[in-house]
Amino acid sequence: MRLATMKCPDPNCGTLYDVALEDGEWHAKCPSCGQQNRVPGMNAGEAITGLCKSCSRPLDDHLYGRLSFACPPKKGKK
Ligand SMILES: [Zn+2]
Ligand SMILES: [Zn+2]
Repeated sequence: MRLATMKCPDPNCGTLYDVALEDGEWHAKCPSCGQQNRVPGMNAGEAITGLCKSCSRPLDDHLYGRLSFACPPKKGKK
């Protein structure tokens, strides 16, 4: 899976939205107007592995979104 950030190309809509794409899937439905939009390859991010590249901990432990991404605080001891 990959995450992509899309802007709906419909001039009456223009909604920004995040989508999760399955491998080989390049269409993302706009949540606002329902239009199926083709996702440019450059919009798609890295494949989702479920682990953070920075701290190697599960992404479920992270805060993330379009504008923010944060590793969870490190524990003092292992
Ligand atoms: Zn739209
Ligand atoms: Zn991390």
